[in-house]
Amino acid sequence: MTQDQADLRQITFGLSRIAAFIRSTQWRAAEALGLTPTQIDALTLLRQRGSSRLLMLANRLGVTQATTSDVVAALQRKDMVRKETDPTDGRAVVISLTALGDDRAAQQEAPPQALTDALSVLDAGEHAVLRRSLVKMIRELQVSGAIEPQRLCVTCRYFRPYAHPGSAQPHHCQFVDAAFGDTALRTDCDDHEDAGDGERERQWRRFSDASQAE
Ligand code: SF4
Repeated sequence: MTQDQADLRQITFGLSRIAAFIRSTQWRAAEALGLTPTQIDALTLLRQRGSSRLLMLANRLGVTQATTSDVVAALQRKDMVRKETDPTDGRAVVISLTALGDDRAAQQEAPPQALTDALSVLDAGEHAVLRRSLVKMIRELQVSGAIEPQRLCVTCRYFRPYAHPGSAQPHHCQFVDAAFGDTALRTDCDDHEDAGDGERERQWRRFSDASQAE
């Protein structure tokens, strides 16, 4: 094993430990609510992204349509989701949260306290580096097709990277018309709108080239 491979293995192991902790915490909380991990994931996604068709929900969950169909049926029996006609296509059906489902999903939103405590030991500079590193890695996974498109600042039509060069808040969000720094780079934003192929690539080059020049 080369040094690079050994380094990557250590990073992957570290990430997998954190992911395993988050998952096990979520699973225990889901169990306390009488839900399976996939059921709580489905509720959380529906709360974050709004009503979804079955295939879209399956892709976001990373499971088959058949499994998603079973999950939805179980959640319907628990009165946490309902099927409705898609307002954009009368022949299609979307899955929506009921008030009970929304309440259960909301209970899952707070990050585990131990993780909040662990993040609090990082200083502002480390937070910025972590945030930027996460954005770069998630975007790369998205570009390679390994994960579904995410609602990242760096793929958003409102993002203006390094619009204020030399400032502590070098980026600009045109949606809220405000400057922000790396510590506020979003990995999941409700106001995100995809920039489209050409603009997305231009923004990314501006962001990554300027990041490297810093
Ligand atoms: S709308 Fe959201 S995702 Fe888009 S640039 Fe603003 S904060 Fe980032």
